[in-house]
Amino acid sequence: MNATPTLPILPPAMLGILGGGQLGRMFAVAAKTMGYRVTVLDPDPHAPAAEFADVHLCAAYDDAAALAQLAQCAAVTTEFENVNADSMRQLAQHTRMSPSGEAVAIAQDREQEKAWIRKAGLNTAPYRVIRSAADINEECDTLFPAILKTATLGYDGKGQVRVADRAQLQQAFADLGGKRCVLEKMLDLRGEISVIVCRLNHEQVRCFDAAENQHENGILAYSVVPARLPENLQRQAQQYAVQLADALDYVGVLAVEMFVVGEAQELIINEMAPRPHNSGHHTLDACASSQFQQQVRLMCGLPPGDTALLTPCCMANILGDVWPQDGEPDWAAVLNSADAHLHLYGKRQARIGRKMGHFTQLAEDADTAYRLAKQRHSAL
Ligand code: ATP
Ligand code: MG
Repeated sequence: MNATPTLPILPPAMLGILGGGQLGRMFAVAAKTMGYRVTVLDPDPHAPAAEFADVHLCAAYDDAAALAQLAQCAAVTTEFENVNADSMRQLAQHTRMSPSGEAVAIAQDREQEKAWIRKAGLNTAPYRVIRSAADINEECDTLFPAILKTATLGYDGKGQVRVADRAQLQQAFADLGGKRCVLEKMLDLRGEISVIVCRLNHEQVRCFDAAENQHENGILAYSVVPARLPENLQRQAQQYAVQLADALDYVGVLAVEMFVVGEAQELIINEMAPRPHNSGHHTLDACASSQFQQQVRLMCGLPPGDTALLTPCCMANILGDVWPQDGEPDWAAVLNSADAHLHLYGKRQARIGRKMGHFTQLAEDADTAYRLAKQRHSAL
């Protein structure tokens, strides 16, 4: 617990963010709306966050001069977990960093992440770390059928191979470059949910309602809130997420992905993201505060805002897949509806699987929101 409470950072202080993708863009909008100024570090001259930033440091994430300038900010946060831990440590010597470099380092490594989930007293899928081909032995057999995941740098289902036996595992390990991996037992998933925790300290912590997530081709497609699961399971999911944040003494916005497993609907922790999350984008339109406002508040040392869900909703991701050969998708399909909220990230190039935007469909209940979101998405 913090012995010396630090004074909150107030507008018009300059806030910094590592990464200028869509999460950085929505962070910048929230911060600017509240009267803060924003500096973004991102090597892409067309980074989505750049349009909303006061300062865009267009440089590599480990560029010494850019980091020195970022260190001048009153506080710095991050929008993606694959940031160089050294850069984070360097920044932490000069300015307030949230989340901490340690928390980010844990979340970017599946081996450490799983160890911490267990240390927090929570369940993971049965797993085994594969460091070299020598680790592929009879001890793996209880895990088949399994998924081999690279320990670092995986996202949107990349760096993952399903394997049914040792021969396939050998091949998959080689295909993934022989790098350290985690072999995970395939679970009987009945659903996937995520909880976003907003934590300043042990006393000041709030969760958003659990989101029910549907993936297509390994990428999040829809998040329905409230999740169509028993109340007590949803409460338990929130409790687990707080338990994990407490174990890490986490400061900031933490997304915790969970599996609902088997007929007993057991909750298993899959992974965490040390930042706002795609499954929390509905908070922009359907909650008392957004996950990006929370990110601003917490990095500034302010207590989390109200997380109440104001209306049932469904967030639908818009991938590059829906772009026609020439021109744009038919945005009227979403914009003509009074209860759908469109968010586009300003990315210049549409590519298959690339997250280009999302929309949030509001409705009187979760089923209707999901049905309408699917309908409007297919009309794009
Ligand atoms: P993202 O960045 O989108 O969260 P990721 O690349 O980090 O994805 P995971 O979240 O580990 O990867 O896995 C992606 C998806 O694969 C999960 O959402 C789930 O649908 C499926 N999956 C992963 N692990 C298991 C498992 N042990 N059993 C069954 N399905 C799994
Ligand atoms: Mg995941």
